Amino acid sequence: MPNNVKKQLWWLAVLMTVAMCTVGGLYYKQRAVMQRVATLGEDNVVWVYTQLGIDYHRALGAARLAETTNAPEDLDELQLRYEILVSRINILAQYRFAPLFHDSAWHSTQIAALRKMIEHTDALLNAGDGSFDRQSAASFEHELDAVIEPVRELTLGSNTRLNQMALENNRAMEGLNTMVAALAALLILITAAIAVLAYRNLAASERRRQEAEQLSHKLDRARVEAEAANEAKSTFLANMSHEIRTPMNGIIGMTDLALDTRLDEDQRQYLNLVKSSADSLLVILNDILDFSKIEAGKLEMESVPFSLRNLMAQTLHPFALRAGEKQLELVCSIEPGIPDQLLSDPSRLRQILNNLVGNAIKFTEQGEIEISVRQLDGNAQQPMVLEFAVRDTGIGIALDKQQLIFAAFAQADSSTTRRYGGTGLGLAITRQLVGLLGGRLWVQSREAQGSSFYFTLPARPAEPLAMPRVVETDLAGQSVLVADDNATNRSWLQTLLQSWGMRPTLVNDGFAALEALQHTPFALILLDAHMPGMSGFDVAQQLQTARRHTTVIMLTSSRERGDTQRCQQLGIRGYLTKPIRQEELLLAMRLLLGGDAVEQHNAPPLLTQDTIRTLSNTHHVLLVEDNLVNQKLGISLLQRHGYQVTVAANGQEALDLLTAQCFDLVLMDMQMPVLDGLETTRRIRAQEVLSGDHLPIIAMTANVMNGDRERCLDAGMDGYIGKPITVEKVLDEIARVQRGQAMQPRRQVHAAVDNMVFDYPQLLRNCDDDQHFVPVLLQAFRDDAPALLAEIEQALAAAELPRVSVAAHSLRGSALSIAAPALVAACQQLEQVSKAGELAAAQAAFATLPRALAQLLQALAPYQATATD
Ligand code: ADP
Repeated sequence: MPNNVKKQLWWLAVLMTVAMCTVGGLYYKQRAVMQRVATLGEDNVVWVYTQLGIDYHRALGAARLAETTNAPEDLDELQLRYEILVSRINILAQYRFAPLFHDSAWHSTQIAALRKMIEHTDALLNAGDGSFDRQSAASFEHELDAVIEPVRELTLGSNTRLNQMALENNRAMEGLNTMVAALAALLILITAAIAVLAYRNLAASERRRQEAEQLSHKLDRARVEAEAANEAKSTFLANMSHEIRTPMNGIIGMTDLALDTRLDEDQRQYLNLVKSSADSLLVILNDILDFSKIEAGKLEMESVPFSLRNLMAQTLHPFALRAGEKQLELVCSIEPGIPDQLLSDPSRLRQILNNLVGNAIKFTEQGEIEISVRQLDGNAQQPMVLEFAVRDTGIGIALDKQQLIFAAFAQADSSTTRRYGGTGLGLAITRQLVGLLGGRLWVQSREAQGSSFYFTLPARPAEPLAMPRVVETDLAGQSVLVADDNATNRSWLQTLLQSWGMRPTLVNDGFAALEALQHTPFALILLDAHMPGMSGFDVAQQLQTARRHTTVIMLTSSRERGDTQRCQQLGIRGYLTKPIRQEELLLAMRLLLGGDAVEQHNAPPLLTQDTIRTLSNTHHVLLVEDNLVNQKLGISLLQRHGYQVTVAANGQEALDLLTAQCFDLVLMDMQMPVLDGLETTRRIRAQEVLSGDHLPIIAMTANVMNGDRERCLDAGMDGYIGKPITVEKVLDEIARVQRGQAMQPRRQVHAAVDNMVFDYPQLLRNCDDDQHFVPVLLQAFRDDAPALLAEIEQALAAAELPRVSVAAHSLRGSALSIAAPALVAACQQLEQVSKAGELAAAQAAFATLPRALAQLLQALAPYQATATD
């Protein structure tokens, strides 16, 4: 009920109560008057007073007669009349209606006069014998004459007075009646008002009910519409994600393939630009898709075990390079007590760190970026809370902008956008992600001094994930079925799979996939999740129903809620989100097709990009090599086999990198400028005495000296590979070192004393039989060799034999890699004599070098020609 109506009703109720009380009072008064009138009627008051007159005159008549006759009977009559008169007066003196007269003094005055007359008469009679005689009759007559006035007053006056009183009563009754009538009218009015109010109230509540009903209908409609819109939005999102990622997969995949082919420098440069543009575009697209997913409430958080330290090292690795380019120091510290294995969403944590560290580097021109992790609280019952801090010494953020930057599309100031680029979505997404993971993100910053972004992350300690070890599976010859409706992706996969020696069969939908499976057994099936008609999941379902157990990897362009669970239910072993990197696919296949891995893990974890990253991280190799050709060769060989490679150009760089990051293995060249391999190894081992760790180190050497192997062992190395490095040698040695086996018995390393200028089959073997890589390697040799030759020449001219020896060693390393035995022999000769300090012999040995190199370059020309065709 509205407030004003309540107020009105309250007033009406008060009014009504007052009116009722008044009516009650009036009724009481009226009843009193009416009672009085009724009592008057009960007893005929006028008659009573008139009787006094009659009795008076009778007594007077009797007195006159007795005085005249003095007869005894008249005297008796007078006696009787006197007695009657006396009793009449006595009655009137005590008359119960006497108080009726307003003027009670009047009544008592008249009665007093009469009483006095009785007293006189009684006294007169008592003076005699108590009864009348002639004389007392005469006196009595006089006495009676004297009270004629009071008698008249009482007989006539009472009548007049009573009439007057009746009149007054009538008037009072009339007044009361009028008031009662007025009050009754008022009551009727109040009742009417209450009725009107009640009616209005009823009408208003009915109207409100109807409005509420309409509103509820409207809301229902709006809810249904909103649900439909949300559904449409989700579908749109899934479609967009699919539509965007599918061609992006094509662009990035095909660019990678093209980069592996014979290209001239310009073409390579253009393609590298395409690749980096596609990578940048992908970052933006991912941001937009993530943002829309968060908006639609569709982002799913995982809770899986991961290694915090690995994740940090792996995430910060690319930033270390970028920071290095800007001469910025990048430091990371994790409180020692924090357990390494945690349960949370590693890919989202990586995304958050990527954004914050990326911003820190972007907005810092000098100084340092420090990333630290500390534990705030937590115990056995409660999850612990970690606090991550990303501190930089960059441009900082004005106080009034510090909250703004967390809003979507917001940047601290528009000039920032022009200078540094960016979408302004990063921090909005980051804050939401942190929130979804149960933490909080905030910033402290001072302009021109730097910013510190903090976020908390609740996490539980976890058991280390039982990850299959990478088993060196030979993919060559394995049959793969590829089902994808997108022609570009099919073609990309075909080229890729063939380049790994596999036998792909390609189909463009789910039905054709099932058809193909009817006739041929496949070692592996790669299924696109989004195919028209029959999706990848449908195919997997059919396979499960038909009890056909083939290893399936699902490739999806839009990750959807519950997909991971669905994969596990359908026995799908891998789930990769497009765009997919070559190495990821390769590692996934090697893991899944590796017999050991399958046998060891009855319920193997689903392989996703994340688990693959964790695995490839456990295969993070530090390649310490000064020679450009050998760097290229090493990177290419190792990456092809799923290793993540970081290069250090000398021992000192390697030591620096090792303090900043974690590696699983070091491939170390022996002879390098600044700090050689042996000394570097000794220093690493010295540091390990404190930590108790042991990092496997494999030496790579082009040396032919006896005793090298022993020297390597003495310095603390675990393995030894003679150059040229080939993929078999590297993988065998890595596998042996990982198995913890002792170094193999020394094989006599023979110098390549051969006059053959160029051994193409050997080069091809060195390149892991990758014809496309041959020209890349030869190009690196062509870039590197003349400079080394010039260095030898200058060093000889300056008679600096150690310099000659180093450069000759390096050139020999390159020559070994490209399989040029004649040049190897010439370099070896020079190296040996200059090491021995024989200047003249060195000069003589050098004399053959330019020719040997020229011959070689000539010999390489045909391969160059094919290479640049
Ligand atoms: P953007 O893609 O523009 O970098 P973000 O949401 O990541 O979007 O950041 C929003 C804005 O916050 C940036 O444009 C910049 O103005 C400010 N900002 C973020 N991080 C830093 C930082 N470390 N130092 C200074 N300014 C920062």
